[in-house]
Amino acid sequence: MKTTRSEKLFKEACELIPGGVNSPVRACLGVGADPLFIASAKGSHVTTVDGQEMIDFVESWGPMLLGHSHPEVTKAVVEAAGKGTSYGAPCPAEVELARMVVDAFPGMDMVRMVNSGTEATMSALRLARGVTGRTKVLKFIGCYHGHADPFLASAGSGVATLSIPGTPGVPESTVRDTLLAPYNDVRAVEDIFHLYGKDIAAIIVEPIAGNMGLVLPEEGFLKALRALCDTHGALLIMDEVITGFRAEYGGAQTRFGITPDLTTLGKIIGGGLPVGAFGGKREYMSRVAPAGDVYQAGTLSGNPLAMAAGIATLSVLKASDYAALEARVEAFAAELESILRGKGVPVTVNRLASMYTVFFSDGPLRNFEDVKNSDTEMYSRFFRAMRERNIFVAPSAFEVAMVSFAHTEEDFAKTLDAVRGIKL
Ligand SMILES: *Cc1c(COP(=O)(O)O)cnc(C)c1O
Repeated sequence: MKTTRSEKLFKEACELIPGGVNSPVRACLGVGADPLFIASAKGSHVTTVDGQEMIDFVESWGPMLLGHSHPEVTKAVVEAAGKGTSYGAPCPAEVELARMVVDAFPGMDMVRMVNSGTEATMSALRLARGVTGRTKVLKFIGCYHGHADPFLASAGSGVATLSIPGTPGVPESTVRDTLLAPYNDVRAVEDIFHLYGKDIAAIIVEPIAGNMGLVLPEEGFLKALRALCDTHGALLIMDEVITGFRAEYGGAQTRFGITPDLTTLGKIIGGGLPVGAFGGKREYMSRVAPAGDVYQAGTLSGNPLAMAAGIATLSVLKASDYAALEARVEAFAAELESILRGKGVPVTVNRLASMYTVFFSDGPLRNFEDVKNSDTEMYSRFFRAMRERNIFVAPSAFEVAMVSFAHTEEDFAKTLDAVRGIKL
């Protein structure tokens, strides 16, 4: 068989870049495949360097809610580039994007721009620790908050209050302060607060979990977290890096009516350029340097190109019909589930807004334990069969499929046809 350009590039990349990729999940190791190199992307489609055009349900892992190369976003970025790419001094676009973000999120009076979701969560935790004078943080098993040390902890057993580092390089002393609970398990959170309440600076939570596949918060879960934080003087950090501008324009906090103390953003806010942000109530954000004493900084933060992409993206999104997209995705996901059911395999398609995950499991899936018990081998076969049929889905059973405003009914019909044609 002839070597493809993707195969050639990947071989070379593996010599130069660890694993051949600049972020692990792109390597497709979990699904027994090699990555395809992308040459270009437009709307709901990506085209590989070998000319394979695919319907894209990865969307750069979330940022591309408008689809790729949206003309307004492209125009804004090109115009900004002509005026210089970085100043190291404030520019008007920073104020404009900050205004848009603060207006969109009930939990934000002020916001600080950073360059990634990782920076946002890392800085929000530092702020929570600074504000409360406490060190411990409670996170949920299966939630991902970027790759900063304190968040890279996996659970011990039982009511998981014992943390061990999730990777070499993270000191035990760092994750000792990270407390873990199963998602949707209010009892476990109560137990942890009972033991450590006075030492907990913050709960950090994905208000809709998107990094163990899509797992929805059960009725009352987020509300209970809010109440526990209030009772014990801890801050509630909602990590809306995925859900911000996606669950609805104002994020999951608007959708569910629960206001956090701090919010972290990433992905969509940069329209495909590297942007993250953290923000919250004025009394807390006033503690961030140079207004306050909690240090945080960034050479390229508030970058004019990235701000331009963000402003253009949010301007278009603000006028977009989220409810209509959600209804279309609901119909599509329901049909997808029914086609797979018809094949006699265990399947549950969790979905909300413009996100869904195909779990090969009878369900329900309400935490990481449930997710882990789904059939990942079957997902790998599903991934490879879909890719052969020009449908690009996430190369991991524990990810969310992202739908954009650019996806057409024809895209959905083609995708469903592809699913009808596969054998699992
Ligand atoms: C992607 C993600 C992050 C990390 O963002 P990066 O830009 O990859 O650093 C943090 N939190 C959540 C919920 C995410 O999905």
